[in-house]
Amino acid sequence: MQPPRLLSLTLDVYRSPIGSSYGDSDPRSTSVETKVVRLASQRPNRYDAIVVGAGHNGLTAAAYLARAGLSTVVLERREIVGGACVTEQIAPGCRASTTSYIASMLRPEVIRDLRLADHGLRMVPCEPGLQVPFLDGEILPWWSDDRRTSEEIRRFSARDASTFLGVQRNLKKLARYLQPYFLEPPPDIHARGVGRAREALRAARRFRSISGEEIGQMVAFLTGSLGDYLDRNFESDRVKTLYLANNVYGKHGGPYQPGTAIGLLFHLLSGGEHEVQGFYGHVVGGMGSITAAMAAAARAFGADVLTSAPVARIDARGGTVTGVTLEDGTEIAAPLVMSGADPKRTFLGMVDKRDLPEDFRHDVEGIKMDGPCAKVNFVLSREPRPAAMPEDADPNRRSLFTLVSSLEFAERCYDTAKMGEIPSELWVDCVVASNVDDTLAAEGKHVMTSFVQYVPFHLREGTWDQMRDVLAGLVVSKVSEYVPGFADTIEAMQVVTPLDLERTYGLTEGNIFHGDLNPEQLFFMRPLPGWANYRTPLRGLYLCGAGAHPGGGVTGAPGFNAAHRALADRRKANKKRRGG
Ligand SMILES: Cc1cc2nc3c(=O)[nH]c(=O)nc-3n(C[C@H](O)[C@H](O)[C@H](O)COP(=O)(O)OP(=O)(O)OC[C@H]3O[C@@H](n4cnc5c(N)ncnc54)[C@H](O)[C@@H]3O)c2cc1C
Repeated sequence: MQPPRLLSLTLDVYRSPIGSSYGDSDPRSTSVETKVVRLASQRPNRYDAIVVGAGHNGLTAAAYLARAGLSTVVLERREIVGGACVTEQIAPGCRASTTSYIASMLRPEVIRDLRLADHGLRMVPCEPGLQVPFLDGEILPWWSDDRRTSEEIRRFSARDASTFLGVQRNLKKLARYLQPYFLEPPPDIHARGVGRAREALRAARRFRSISGEEIGQMVAFLTGSLGDYLDRNFESDRVKTLYLANNVYGKHGGPYQPGTAIGLLFHLLSGGEHEVQGFYGHVVGGMGSITAAMAAAARAFGADVLTSAPVARIDARGGTVTGVTLEDGTEIAAPLVMSGADPKRTFLGMVDKRDLPEDFRHDVEGIKMDGPCAKVNFVLSREPRPAAMPEDADPNRRSLFTLVSSLEFAERCYDTAKMGEIPSELWVDCVVASNVDDTLAAEGKHVMTSFVQYVPFHLREGTWDQMRDVLAGLVVSKVSEYVPGFADTIEAMQVVTPLDLERTYGLTEGNIFHGDLNPEQLFFMRPLPGWANYRTPLRGLYLCGAGAHPGGGVTGAPGFNAAHRALADRRKANKKRRGG
């Protein structure tokens, strides 16, 4: 593929995917060598629990385990905590949420239990939650108040304005049936005897008030496509685009692919401190403030959180986990190991193949990853302001805009990417966090993060290291269509290709959710049918990251659920040992 002409090849490109972590004491000052010496000389080499990976789920799990009194250590391969929920320096004096960038579904229970506010977490609700500018000068915001959004929609279609209110009411109602399953395991379809009856009762309780009509709708959301749903309900292409701009992020599938409609419900699960359905928040200090607060909470409960401590192997004897071995050979023992790394990294990369049933490994190999996204983060000399932005828009409103023109455009984009090619035009989601957070950019500068899809992880021709500038050029071109003079304002840029997501952030095949969020990989199918309860075929080994139910996004839910599962199993085993 021929690289398109770059708008500006004289950019001061500061490509350091690894920067310093906000809130962590200078992470680069600790080399692997010194860390290990410290580990060997000052830290115990035996704990009650080891958590592999200091992503937000690993940290959440560790905090709950430590709160329950278990001596706990978190071992993170990178020199900073946070996984895909980090703030990093992208140019001198400028920091950005280099991967995830908006907090929408972080569980209020986790925020409260871990006292994240006391550990410095602050959020500013996005208002609007999203907005789509169009090239003819129109702009459509999605306000937190549905009535206000409906009035915006009225400019394009009176019919859609009232349909919108009905659709939102209905979606919110359906989402409430799923909400409780966020912080509990999905129904155990493999339970037998009393367990089976208990599971049936639990499901019956959750869905006791659901009507026949709603069951039909739920099935349609699970199996139908976003595009078909929107075509059926709305007449204005702009309204459909607004819904699109809120959905299918990180998904391997165009908006007309069956199973994409479920995202409409996912986004209406409540989040934020005040449990608002459809919450969107900027995190002050960037997303890394979430994981910095979680690490502080875990430490306050007594956990050790170690960085630059890559786990090479999860050790086991006779089908039971015994601890881990770090890449430098240090062995740490524990009867309980939780992995916050994705299922492929965990089971194919860290567990000896002789310790797992062959068919289990085979099924793990079949988990669909193949992430379709990338990220380009900018430092700008001027605020990037789409031409369509109203003159009187306040800084919060000016802090986000999504550049995607239509359902058809997105579908074509996906079709190109799925064949291993980089589309000539991209879907770009921009957040100018420095408009609402003055801790990120140096005086007079702005920081803008741009999430990009659809791009292929597996390129048909060339490598991502060769295509880095192509990606950067396409993003700059796209933003320039909407923001006059954009290219001239770029002072630095960090390009995170799908390969960087794997190499730097440890996400297999760049999948931001540790496995595609398709219905066949959700609920009691996540990570695999029969293993949706956080346990694994190795006794004492649990999966606590986004690869487990309920999946990806910065929620803390898999970490919460896995820790509670492990603690319940431990209580049961102790009771049995005592003969109770
Ligand atoms: C570009 C991008 C944009 C996103 N945007 C959003 C967004 O705006 N909002 C949202 O809610 N979600 C977003 N997401 C998704 C969300 O960030 C992730 O799904 C979520 O952070 C996953 O958290 P986790 O703790 O389960 O796993 P991770 O964050 O992946 O953490 C796993 C950790 O394990 C570590 N690890 C792996 N192997 C080892 C080993 N051998 N030894 C030690 N440590 C190891 C890794 O280094 C990593 O720190 C985005 C993700 C990306 C990448």
